[in-house]
Amino acid sequence: MEIENLIITHNFICGICNGVNYMIKCRNCNNDICQSEKCGLHFDHIDNTTYSICSRCSDTISEKIIPLIDLCKLECLKKRIKFLKMVKN
Ligand SMILES: [Zn+2]
Ligand SMILES: [Zn+2]
Repeated sequence: MEIENLIITHNFICGICNGVNYMIKCRNCNNDICQSEKCGLHFDHIDNTTYSICSRCSDTISEKIIPLIDLCKLECLKKRIKFLKMVKN
């Protein structure tokens, strides 16, 4: 099975949801997380990169990261998440 091979070679497994997915590094703790919105906050960043904070860090440092990240973007993201939740329900 392809998925089993991915698990053996690790690094492809999200440290939060244990899902096998495209990985991205948390800018705070440097752990690998997947791009799922439930595993972290992902912001568009300069040069087409993504600024990601895992959900563990976002819980503990959310007050600190707000001044660092464009407030409007954060608000837009929150609205988007709310919207997505509404659509799913
Ligand atoms: Zn995940
Ligand atoms: Zn983190």
